[in-house]
Amino acid sequence: MSAVYQRVALIGLGLIAGSMAHAMRARGLAGKIVGHARSAETRAIARELFCDEVCETAAEAVRDADLVVLAVPVGAMEEIAAEIAPHLKPGAVVTDVGSVKGAVVEAVAPHMPDGVHFIPGHPLAGTEYSGPRSGFATLFQNRWWLLTPLPGTDVTEIARLRGLLEAIGANVDEMDVAHHDLVLAVVSHVPHAIAYTMVGVADHMRRVSQSEVIKYSASGFRDFTRIAASDPVMWRDVFLTNKEAVLDILGRFAEELFVLQRAIRMEDGDHLHAYFTRTRAIRRGIIEAGQDTAAPDFGRGAEPPRGA
Ligand code: NAP
Repeated sequence: MSAVYQRVALIGLGLIAGSMAHAMRARGLAGKIVGHARSAETRAIARELFCDEVCETAAEAVRDADLVVLAVPVGAMEEIAAEIAPHLKPGAVVTDVGSVKGAVVEAVAPHMPDGVHFIPGHPLAGTEYSGPRSGFATLFQNRWWLLTPLPGTDVTEIARLRGLLEAIGANVDEMDVAHHDLVLAVVSHVPHAIAYTMVGVADHMRRVSQSEVIKYSASGFRDFTRIAASDPVMWRDVFLTNKEAVLDILGRFAEELFVLQRAIRMEDGDHLHAYFTRTRAIRRGIIEAGQDTAAPDFGRGAEPPRGA
């Protein structure tokens, strides 16, 4: 394939940026990939593994770039946007991969100069691993990548970015910013909160029952621990910046939990059976949509686990 963008600048060189770089390199989609991360160690690893060039500052990295990808934790977006703004090339496209969109738009959009196209985005793909060694070229294969363009954004530039993302394997959809944050609270953010909590409960139990929680950990708990091993900085920022939607969905979750608790207490088997039949159908729908495998080990043996 020919290059979609001549010069791509990746700001933040962890799981998502690394996976993008591997995928773009594999298909020749970028003329040159330039990167920046905070630490010299990360920059050196990225230079060795997937960047043609690395820079000590984000400002230097974005110079002359046709596409700039902000791939840092959500809480770091504003500082980076302010730093790069005066150095962006007129006509450049700036996108981000942050897991929350409202907060990123508020943090980044005010800094973007006229003539620069800011197109917020979010790949629904990830693993519990982070850092410059964790990326791989197939991370986005058949995963959704949501774009949340602001009204009035140049449609040609949206189409060009979409073309790049599709070429690295993603299915692209467009969504309104607030809707994105609500949907993600349901499908990703609150499930992570629940996993963190369940592992926390087991941790307290462990003090009571010594190592039994780990020794006998069955698949349900094991899957929670995988999710709860996700990057603490990233998830701290997700909860702090998608606070309203997360609290809304957590409130609904608590109500459902009380209903379930009551059904168990009242030995209402019909309720439990009907409820679990409905939830089982949702799982089937996810498999049919190609978003997970039907393998009983959750596909662990087949490919690296994916999250969002
Ligand atoms: P990651 O592997 O932890 O990498 C983060 C990178 O950002 C590191 O290279 C880090 O540099 C750099 N960084 C952090 N603060 C910085 C700053 N102030 N200035 C410059 N660089 C800075 O993270 P990731 O998983 O790729 O996540 C990146 C973004 O993607 C986040 O916004 C996250 O919400 C989003 N996202 C993640 C997933 C997922 O499952 N992981 C999925 C979808 C979207 P150092 O290594 O030098 O510290």
